[in-house]
Amino acid sequence: IDWQEFDLNDVTSNAISIIHGEAERRGITLKTKRPTTELPVRADKVHVQQVVLNLATNAMDAMTETGSDSRILTLATGVVKEKAELCVADTGNGIPQERLSSIFEPFYTTKQAGTGLGLSIARAIVETYGGTISATNRPEGGAIFRVALPLARGGE
Ligand code: ADP
Ligand code: MG
Repeated sequence: IDWQEFDLNDVTSNAISIIHGEAERRGITLKTKRPTTELPVRADKVHVQQVVLNLATNAMDAMTETGSDSRILTLATGVVKEKAELCVADTGNGIPQERLSSIFEPFYTTKQAGTGLGLSIARAIVETYGGTISATNRPEGGAIFRVALPLARGGE
């Protein structure tokens, strides 16, 4: 593990630059919400990047399945309960309530060519760095995934 202290906001910026071409091809609008302050976390940046790309890919898949022409992928960062939080929200069909506990299991997939490994790997990575990952549905439709990581405070 290549431990580094970095700003979680950088991960959002990197993810946007990697996915924007594919999002455009799929008619998906990218939105970001970020605080003006830095969100220092300690982890291997490449691993956290992988988590966000897995979540963003799933979000884009979920919106590609729907017939709706309003496709919005939101990447938001902030501080929640003294943790650095990164949220990936989409306007797809969401996740059936009874499946919310299964989606993180290895090989669980509803896609024809899915591996079902993306979310289990994401959870393993996040837990390695003392964080949590959870999924909920948005009242207005679509899913929201939240990654919370301990804030690294300089000097402590
Ligand atoms: P894969 O993408 O290969 O199917 P994942 O572990 O990444 O595997 O995801 C597992 C399953 O969780 C998906 O097949 C899908 O059913 C569900 N899922 C994940 N993200 C979303 C999302 N944003 N909206 C709806 N369903 C989702
Ligand atoms: Mg996936």
